[in-house]
Amino acid sequence: MILPIVGYGQPILRKVARPVEREYPELKTLVSNMYETMYAADGVGLAAPQIDLSLRLVVIGFRPYDEKTETYGDPTEEHTLVNPEILEFQGEKKFFNEGCLSVPDIHEDVLRPERVVVHYWDEDWNEHTDVAEGLYARVVQHEVDHLDGKVFVDRLSGLRKAMLRRRLGDIAAGRVRTRYRMKSTNNKR
Ligand code: ZN
Repeated sequence: MILPIVGYGQPILRKVARPVEREYPELKTLVSNMYETMYAADGVGLAAPQIDLSLRLVVIGFRPYDEKTETYGDPTEEHTLVNPEILEFQGEKKFFNEGCLSVPDIHEDVLRPERVVVHYWDEDWNEHTDVAEGLYARVVQHEVDHLDGKVFVDRLSGLRKAMLRRRLGDIAAGRVRTRYRMKSTNNKR
């Protein structure tokens, strides 16, 4: 099931999400819905607060894109991160152009460490510790930020953020068009 995505400016994106408990009902269904929602919106990562659930749950998936047919192939890599914790930041800090399904049409270079050690459980409650590099490391950091109430534009310089202020205000007011469904801002809850 494809779920609507919460946009920048909604309070849930500013909350510190609560841990997923072992007894959480239908965790696998939720995870499956999150992958479906993410891929339908052409995303590479999705955190539960983005679908209006204050939970420490993230899905990450990479699919090859075929420019000729303009379609995606099957995922080459997927990671379900339940209660992820970044244990260590490693390597040099690098700029990489980031976007976010909750912040449509805004893409900005963000400085982050190139490697992280991340501890998490998967949807079967198997424990993992990964040394994440490259795109995986980037997406882990972006998504774990969501669980802590942070959005990637928070990490931009004051000047860049000031330049984006009007566009961020438009998103917060629901004045944005997306190919995927966003949760209505009129829905006060
Ligand atoms: Zn995001």
